[in-house]
Amino acid sequence: MTTRRDRDVLHRFVFEDTNVRGVLVHLDASWQAVLERRTYPDPVRTLLGQAMAAVVLLSTTVKYQGSVTLQLRGRGPVTLLVVQVRPGRHVRGIAHWRDPVHTGTLAEVVGEAQLAITIDPGEGMDRYQGIVETGAARTLAQALEGYFERSEQLPTRLWLAADGVRAAGMLLQQLPGAGRDADAWNRLEHLGATLTPGELLQLTDRELLHRLFHEERVRLFEADPVSFRCDCSRERTDALLRGLGIDEVRTLLAEQGRVHVECEFCGHAYDYDAVDVEQLFAAEGQPDVPRTRH
Ligand SMILES: [Zn+2]
Repeated sequence: MTTRRDRDVLHRFVFEDTNVRGVLVHLDASWQAVLERRTYPDPVRTLLGQAMAAVVLLSTTVKYQGSVTLQLRGRGPVTLLVVQVRPGRHVRGIAHWRDPVHTGTLAEVVGEAQLAITIDPGEGMDRYQGIVETGAARTLAQALEGYFERSEQLPTRLWLAADGVRAAGMLLQQLPGAGRDADAWNRLEHLGATLTPGELLQLTDRELLHRLFHEERVRLFEADPVSFRCDCSRERTDALLRGLGIDEVRTLLAEQGRVHVECEFCGHAYDYDAVDVEQLFAAEGQPDVPRTRH
């Protein structure tokens, strides 16, 4: 037993003799890495942090080891928010907004918006995407609960919190099949409802589970680490430019003297001069060959 804070970890837990499972996530350095790259107004930062915690929780509800992306597209002030978790529990995220942004409900911060969850199992398997309107949802957690209701049809509750230091979340989910304890879901959901954002951000997972569920038998599994990492690469940027087509890329080159592509998630810059651009398109359609990085 340890009383130190849980940092950048995911903890799964189950309630013994019930069909209710849970997950807790805490993002620290992984959240700081996102905040170091861009300064967000407080309401945007809160929403982005909550979304980062949420996407990690969501990744535990899918069978595959691929990537899970949560995207909010709204009519503003926040116009776009994208968070992603990939194999190895690597997270990244970004938000776009228009000033001014005032603290408010989700509906006020994103306006009329769509919430899309994309699951990419990788290895050539088909992607799955579920989209719901966020409607009048007051919080991201509420909007996600609506998503689960429609797509997964598993009763699911989420609690999300973020500040300038940490982001955290808890998920409770009732799995199919009757547990021996028929009243468990109602009881655990009510106990969970007393959780405050302050407790979620400050307590260790053991403390938190004890505070909420001390009369229940909870089994906490080993922690899984979560970290910030971007998967942008020269190869992906090559593919992006090829997608634009040679005419468009030559125009960019003529205007700017070089083609400069900067990754929004991590700030990494990829530059192409005239020779790079011609090579990019000369190589098109040929089998992949290892290329030298500059
Ligand atoms: Zn990147």
